[in-house]
Amino acid sequence: MKKYSPFSLDQQNENIEGRIVVALERISEAFRVLLWNESKENALSPIQIQILIFIYFHTPEFNKVSYLAEEFNMTKATISDSVKVLVAKKLVSKETDATDTRSYSLSLTKEGEKIARKASTFATSIEQPLEKLTKEQKTIMLNGLLKLIYDLNQSGIITIQRMCFNCSHYQFDKNGHYCKLLKSRLAESELRVDCPEHEMKEQVS
Ligand code: SF4
Repeated sequence: MKKYSPFSLDQQNENIEGRIVVALERISEAFRVLLWNESKENALSPIQIQILIFIYFHTPEFNKVSYLAEEFNMTKATISDSVKVLVAKKLVSKETDATDTRSYSLSLTKEGEKIARKASTFATSIEQPLEKLTKEQKTIMLNGLLKLIYDLNQSGIITIQRMCFNCSHYQFDKNGHYCKLLKSRLAESELRVDCPEHEMKEQVS
């Protein structure tokens, strides 16, 4: 008996989940190409560009090698090597932690900030077609993707996620989604993927 694979054309065409998986693969390919183009322009690697963008938009407590390794599902050694290059190119500097001199966080230099600002628009051509969808289509898509990300996180395939579904402030009741921190109901279209106020919910083992 043939094993099921979403990449088998016959099996994929009989199965909507398979077609979604293949569609997501196509989209990840678009990200890869766009990120690669941005990297080439700056003579950096894709992960170096991702690190610059991450530091640009996140606060110092997140901008540490160990956190970046988890964020990008890579080893500390790989992130460390990329950071060394960024420091050597004077795009990133290390700021020693005042309370622990063995620990440091990363910040952008003026030049690093300039590259990060420009590079952060690399996915615009993926965002533009989404603007053509109706609000309802976008909300359904966002919710489906959030549920998928949550499940992939729960099964350990992808690491850190700063989203509502795994936040200690998140509550779901008969009236829908609620954020205890913001003291506000969240419409389906307002659920967050990367929230600055996120606090990881304790895992029940
Ligand atoms: S703090 Fe942020 S992630 Fe947490 S529930 Fe509120 S909006 Fe969602």
